[in-house]
Amino acid sequence: MPTTTEVSNWFGDLVSKPKVVAEAKSVKDIQKILKDPEKFPSPVRAFGSNHSTAACAAADGGTMIRMKAMNRILEITEDTVTVEAGAILIDVAQELRKQGKQFFVNTEIGNLSMGSAACAGTKDGSMPGEFGQVSSYCTRMKLVLPSGKILEASEESDPELMKMLRCSYGTFGVVTEATFRIRAMEPMEVFHETFSVKDYCARLPELWARGYSMMYYMFLYDEKVTCEFRKYNPKAKGLRELHVWPLRNYLWSDLGPRTCFQAERDIADKKARYKLIDVFGGTWRWNLENLIKSKNTAAPDQMIRYPEVSGDNRYTFSLWAFPESEYAKILPAYTKWVKSYYKTKGYRTNMLHVGYRIAKDQMSTLSYSFDGNVMTIDPVSTANPGWTKFLDDFNVWCSERGGAPLPNQTFGFTRAQAVKALGARLDTMAAKRAEFDPGNRLLNPFFKTFFGV
Ligand SMILES: Cc1cc2nc3c(=O)[nH]c(=O)nc-3n(C[C@H](O)[C@H](O)[C@H](O)COP(=O)(O)OP(=O)(O)OC[C@H]3O[C@@H](n4cnc5c(N)ncnc54)[C@H](O)[C@@H]3O)c2cc1C
Repeated sequence: MPTTTEVSNWFGDLVSKPKVVAEAKSVKDIQKILKDPEKFPSPVRAFGSNHSTAACAAADGGTMIRMKAMNRILEITEDTVTVEAGAILIDVAQELRKQGKQFFVNTEIGNLSMGSAACAGTKDGSMPGEFGQVSSYCTRMKLVLPSGKILEASEESDPELMKMLRCSYGTFGVVTEATFRIRAMEPMEVFHETFSVKDYCARLPELWARGYSMMYYMFLYDEKVTCEFRKYNPKAKGLRELHVWPLRNYLWSDLGPRTCFQAERDIADKKARYKLIDVFGGTWRWNLENLIKSKNTAAPDQMIRYPEVSGDNRYTFSLWAFPESEYAKILPAYTKWVKSYYKTKGYRTNMLHVGYRIAKDQMSTLSYSFDGNVMTIDPVSTANPGWTKFLDDFNVWCSERGGAPLPNQTFGFTRAQAVKALGARLDTMAAKRAEFDPGNRLLNPFFKTFFGV
């Protein structure tokens, strides 16, 4: 198996220096790795596409297991799909589509590996009556434990263990296979509406009552929010409108970040640079409102296949989730805070913010919407100078206001902040985890801190 010294996440800002990077081709390969600490030193961390924006997959001095080659779709039934952990969401979605099927949660990130989808955090605006986290639809998992033994768990056999495995991040064992519930494809309606921050917050109860999913683009320096509303529309007539999601995806994953990156690089004067970025935000809103609307789109078309190696259009982000009942107070206060942060500290994010409304979800022990519906604040950036320091301050701001972080998507949160948000659920996870991994073979410093080991 090849060795290397550096593996960076997709964005390129988190670099790990493992002693070994092992390519898993089979369950046996993973068993061999876990049983041989001499050749494959600890910590051992499996990884999929390494798209995480936090250091959760890092294994400095240890072993990183690349799961990519274990990418077979094993079985599609009427209402489930079983896949190997290295398959990616967009590839599986395309196969399902051929049979008129789709996932429940169709994140824009098509590169999400199914192993990560099963055992790590995700977010998408919850469709009416549904969850917004992919793992909540995972019904069965197969893992290799640090002992080399195979663990198979399912909703039927052990629902309580499944709740922990769905947020285990490879700290119980390496996921090799997972089964997800799927559904028949249905036409999906989408449209956008722009509000002032004040108006958006005042009208939230009315917007929730509309019965649509809500994801929103926030242009906070102009105090504007453009909300994406979606719901299934089984009565849609005519042909699917195929241009809608590709156009959204182009704006979100290419033109948007590329323009902001170039403005950051080429316009030295801050005032001029951010004026241009805010004007560009106006164009973005116009496109969303006027072009990205249809009564008949397909949910899998939302997925983006990001390039293997990121280019000038790369972006990164962070995230905190807040109880939706507090959001009408939180968002205006946050808007004031980021504006004043720019004035007093000279830093502002060079892209927009986004947010998601995610339904109450107790399918995983560490769910960030365990106690009720949440709405998130996700600053997005091409990592302009000052970004990391900003995120430290952002973490403090959000934690003080009752926010919850997501281990693979919130950069730089502290153990104290995790304890405040997750309380006893974190202890429950830590205790159960230790039963499966008594030698802490799977814990990197990130998870040692997280679990207080
Ligand atoms: C440009 C961009 C857009 C994004 N958009 C979204 C979005 O719309 N929605 C969303 O929810 N997220 C989004 N994300 C975040 C991303 O989906 C998550 O961070 C996700 O975990 C990435 O999947 P991955 O396969 O790259 O996981 P990795 O980063 O490779 O791994 C995530 C965690 O899971 C563990 N792990 C991975 N595979 C296994 C396995 N087989 N067994 C055990 N443990 C394993 C890793 O050790 C790590 O701790 C985005 C990220 C980027 C960079």
